[in-house]
Amino acid sequence: MTDKCIGCRLQEGSFEVNGGFIHESENFNVIQDWIVPIPGFMVIQSKRHLIGVGEFTEQEHKEFSTFLYEVRKAMKDVLDIQTVYLIQEEDSVHFHVWLLPVYHWMEKGIANARKNCYYARDNMNTEENMKKVNECIQKLKDYFKEK
Ligand SMILES: [Zn+2]
Repeated sequence: MTDKCIGCRLQEGSFEVNGGFIHESENFNVIQDWIVPIPGFMVIQSKRHLIGVGEFTEQEHKEFSTFLYEVRKAMKDVLDIQTVYLIQEEDSVHFHVWLLPVYHWMEKGIANARKNCYYARDNMNTEENMKKVNECIQKLKDYFKEK
């Protein structure tokens, strides 16, 4: 077994997630969260192992805001997601930003974000909901392919 972090393993392809990479730039890519089946729950990750924005190279720094914009705009235009919470934890492993959609069934507020995710993880792994999750992945992939 490798002692590489899970983010690095995902980047090198030794660990695969449902739907795979939805969109990518030179230094970042985006996936559907693979633990929490909330439709349109996107996670942007760096290809290189790093923890926080402060470690970005000049190139990563320039690229990131465009990439974040593209993903968020796609969520809005293609999936009609009006509100998201952006979350990035520098005490986690491997740089990733959660773009957590806010749905009507959720308790509002960033303090409830984890609770909502746990709820989804424990209760939404149904065939019907996974169909929605996969439809969102496919719509986003189609959108980015046409760009
Ligand atoms: Zn890593």
